[in-house]
Amino acid sequence: MTSARPAGYFPHSGDLSYDVDHYDLRLAYDVDSNQVRARAVLHVVANTDLRALRLDLVGLRVTKVQVEGTPAVTYAARRHHLVLRFGRTVKSGQHLRLTIMYQGRPAAIGSGSDEMGWEELDDGVLVAGQTNGAPSWFPCNDRPSNKARYRFEITVASTYHALANGVLTQSRRGASTTTWVYEQSEPMATYLATVQIGRYTTLAVPGASVPMSAVLPDRLIHRYGNAFSRQPEMLVFFERLFGPYPFPAYTVVVTADDLEIPLEAQGMSVFGANFLTGGWDNVRLVAHELSHQWFGNSLTLADWSDIWLHEGFACYCEWLWSEESGARCADVRAREHWARLAGKSQDLLLGDPGPDDMFDDRVYKRGALLLHALRLTVGDEAFFVLLRSWVSTNAYGNVTTAMFVAHCEAASGQSLQDLFRPWLTGRALPALPSVPAAPGGPHSAP
Ligand SMILES: [Zn+2]
Repeated sequence: MTSARPAGYFPHSGDLSYDVDHYDLRLAYDVDSNQVRARAVLHVVANTDLRALRLDLVGLRVTKVQVEGTPAVTYAARRHHLVLRFGRTVKSGQHLRLTIMYQGRPAAIGSGSDEMGWEELDDGVLVAGQTNGAPSWFPCNDRPSNKARYRFEITVASTYHALANGVLTQSRRGASTTTWVYEQSEPMATYLATVQIGRYTTLAVPGASVPMSAVLPDRLIHRYGNAFSRQPEMLVFFERLFGPYPFPAYTVVVTADDLEIPLEAQGMSVFGANFLTGGWDNVRLVAHELSHQWFGNSLTLADWSDIWLHEGFACYCEWLWSEESGARCADVRAREHWARLAGKSQDLLLGDPGPDDMFDDRVYKRGALLLHALRLTVGDEAFFVLLRSWVSTNAYGNVTTAMFVAHCEAASGQSLQDLFRPWLTGRALPALPSVPAAPGGPHSAP
């Protein structure tokens, strides 16, 4: 094999020896039987000389593989992979066009609370790809550092509404089925690719600076405002802090089913019916998921060990919204959570929590507290300026903790190693700096 497995939390996922630039996924899906027949066309560029290429694909049967640009390809299905072998060496830098026909009954990967990927609902489908669920429905290079553009073509019975990431460019109605075509032009990590299928109605939501909509069952429309009434304001607020919303539109899907947690996808968030009540515990999640469009989806970690760059930031955005919306200010939230965290076991490394603890709530809260400590150290003005330039400099790319620390030092003109080190690489909870004499709040941000 010439594949290069990435080190890190999921060494069985993804391959560094090539990049996929574009996925064209065509799925014909039957909701009742959960049967899919699919064709994936992948535009690939070799990063090194290749005799073989390893794609991630789980639980689906490949019926045909064609590769334009190289003859004599054989393929073999492994438990988690589809391995293609070339008749001659594919040179580094060479482009290939892979066409893969496959079919079967897609199912989530993993078990219990670790399930990810394709999931049947009572009457429809959701896809929750984080962290390694993408191979449950399409062959891919499943590492977050390989962002690509996508086209989706989904054919389902016309009684259902099908969504995917990006802009709806066509919906063609046949005798009994409808084909939905979506184009995702901004680069996207595999785990953020999604399909949502249900008996849904689209509700246009006015008041935001980009098209915003809710896609949900009719019977839930009257409850939508309970948690989401201020979401347009949130988007305007986050744009003021972090710069333009990075995608053409934002859609919230509310499933008929209850869900344990909301899910983020690029340009989209998915909430269960159980989240349609007011109160801070739900409203904070609305802010959290929306903020992932900047922190996670536009700026995506290169390696899962840096998960705090998504979850710490999204948690801090909850506190910023709390302050903006007239609820408790961010400093009060931060000190409450600091006190709670101080009472929990301190055996977690924020800068490298490990695959079992990467979604531990302490990562979220400690990450947000680090951002608050940074804000108190450099001052409000410098803090919001550096966040904004962090986003603009790295939009649609991949980021690391080292890049963030270097960015903060360059932007603030001071060494911040003594601030970052104990929060990121120590286990004990560092003290929060005291409040500056005249806090400006996010209102003072440009
Ligand atoms: Zn999150």
